[in-house]
Amino acid sequence: MDIPMMARSPLRDFTKKDDFSDVTLIVEDTKLYVHKQYLAEWSPVWRQKFLSDFSEETDTEISLPGKKLEEVTELLHCIYSTQKPISESNVRFLLELAHEYEMSSIKQRCEEYLISNEKSLEILVLAQKFNLKNMYKAGIEFAKTCTLEELEHSPEYRNLKPETLIAIYKDKITMMRNYASDLKQSEKNLTLKTNQLSVEKENMKSVLSHIQNIWETPNKRCYKHVNEDSFDFECQDCNEKISREIRKMCAEGQHVKYYRLNNNV
Ligand SMILES: [Zn+2]
Repeated sequence: MDIPMMARSPLRDFTKKDDFSDVTLIVEDTKLYVHKQYLAEWSPVWRQKFLSDFSEETDTEISLPGKKLEEVTELLHCIYSTQKPISESNVRFLLELAHEYEMSSIKQRCEEYLISNEKSLEILVLAQKFNLKNMYKAGIEFAKTCTLEELEHSPEYRNLKPETLIAIYKDKITMMRNYASDLKQSEKNLTLKTNQLSVEKENMKSVLSHIQNIWETPNKRCYKHVNEDSFDFECQDCNEKISREIRKMCAEGQHVKYYRLNNNV
């Protein structure tokens, strides 16, 4: 059987025997010619199999019942020097095969691929199944940001283990608790600011009333008019004295500047 994809691509054709192939895998009645030493390096399961099943034989055949030709070929492409990249189309079955044959570096590549892609609850399900710690963490981080409805309506929800659900809910509670304490802190800051502003308002009011009374205060006038009943707006000396006084008060606070701006003092 020939796989059309292989004819076109520069990838190794495992259905063709080469001078060094010493193991034949039989998958769906197709013979794949591979190399004992190479597979053993990638998979301790294979190493054990080669060591125990056949010792000194040079050409041996191993049947892989139940495996798909396409999937096993893809796995071989990923470990041979061609090193096919992990992709959306192969990651799930590669993870399954790599787990069965204990190929930790392929598992790690699959995990890295899935973490770097768009997150979903599926990565949590896969992380649980294949014991992938980094992906599990990434999955919990994603899940805690979902609403309860999003979680419960997801098709993956029923595949989450109870301990995973507890981890998600625990993280959600922590997240909400942090949010609540942030809100509380903001409220505290706002109250503080409000109090500060009311103090400033009172200060401003007192400064303004002070300024308002200044024309009624006899000792703020010039020596000629200090004993008169009312302010003489015609007197330049009185006006200058008042003006100086107000400037002094203005220098005392920001709010008095506003007073000046708005009242053209
Ligand atoms: Zn005067």
